Amino acid sequence: MPASHGRGWSTRRSQERPVLLAHKIALDPNMAQRVYFARASGTARFSYNWALAEWQRQYKAGEKPSEVSLRRQLNTIKRDQFVWMFDVTKCAVQEAIIDLGTAFRAFFEKRGKYPRFKRKEDKPSFCAANEAGTFRADGKRIKLPVIGWIGMREECRFSGPLKRATVSCEAGRWFVSLMVDTDEVQPVAQPEAAVGIDLGVTTLATLSTGEAIEGPKSHKVALARLRRANKAMARKRRGSRNARKAKARLGRLHRRVAAIRRDATHKMTTRIAKTYAVIGIEDLNVRGMVRNRHLARAVSDGGFHEFRRQITYKARLYGARVVVAGRWYPSSKSCSCCGVIKETLALAERTFRCTDCGFEAGRDVNAALNLAAMAASSAVAACGEIRADAGRKARVKRTSVKQEENTVLMEAA
Ligand SMILES: [Zn+2]
Repeated sequence: MPASHGRGWSTRRSQERPVLLAHKIALDPNMAQRVYFARASGTARFSYNWALAEWQRQYKAGEKPSEVSLRRQLNTIKRDQFVWMFDVTKCAVQEAIIDLGTAFRAFFEKRGKYPRFKRKEDKPSFCAANEAGTFRADGKRIKLPVIGWIGMREECRFSGPLKRATVSCEAGRWFVSLMVDTDEVQPVAQPEAAVGIDLGVTTLATLSTGEAIEGPKSHKVALARLRRANKAMARKRRGSRNARKAKARLGRLHRRVAAIRRDATHKMTTRIAKTYAVIGIEDLNVRGMVRNRHLARAVSDGGFHEFRRQITYKARLYGARVVVAGRWYPSSKSCSCCGVIKETLALAERTFRCTDCGFEAGRDVNAALNLAAMAASSAVAACGEIRADAGRKARVKRTSVKQEENTVLMEAA
């Protein structure tokens, strides 16, 4: 239907920098590979700490340390001083120092803290860059330098050249995070115009079409366990051994719920970005304020953040557009039929009833319908994320306003 949609995006995209996306996948390493991973991680940690100490020393001596000079310096001395570094890929050493350089750059640009030394207790990890084609993925396996093929639990969801692989260990399991250059992904022509999305805790999301996305069954089970663990935690005496155990269990369940949500959110956001040309969502800060229950908030904050991150980059990838409602946009309190805004709406009211026009709908559906209308009526801009304030002119983040698309987008409102 939006025929004008497919054209135009690709040229605009090619002027942008390549889109680098990461997909983290669980690995199935054998014993020898595990040993190698641990050793490479140790080497990476050592290199990082060596470079940080050297950076500080040179800085104090009035020199100008840099990531490049430190890499060169380590290369010249490692044959004499750290001959064991040759046991693992030289990438582990190089990339660790590159990471330190990145951390310092973030610090100087006031985006990050001053780099800290890595401790043995920190998450083990090392990186490999793929400059000379040292590794490649083939379906559900990946070939890494020195150790060869390793099974992956799933295929990489992005296609394109692999730029970098980060191998890390969490709670005894090894993962690889693959960074893919997705520049060649082509925008799709979305069959539908606009959609509004209301995010939830038990239900992942409700669309303005009335569709409720429940997420997998395991999500419900994990949520119920999390609620129980949360209550159990509250009953324990503070500082006791049992409280410590309950806390660890709670942490594990939080990670599990987050992992299930992340997976389900990936399926959902891919489908939405491929189906709808304009996507209306709420500002997340509002959500945090509305859902103030302890557990719901902990689950939702992380989940909404992840949703926003995914839908933003996927919209960019597939040429859809995300419109974020202004902070004070009353998506729950407005009647999606006549526009009247309710004075009060209790959280417990699951059905929206309008006293003015008699409109009735599920609370989530009504909110999603408002977000869809908001998104569709906001000024049409280039792909990417824009913010819209209800009734006011949308502030367009990127350039170029395409008027001719407006007519197409209005239909769903
Ligand atoms: Zn009404």
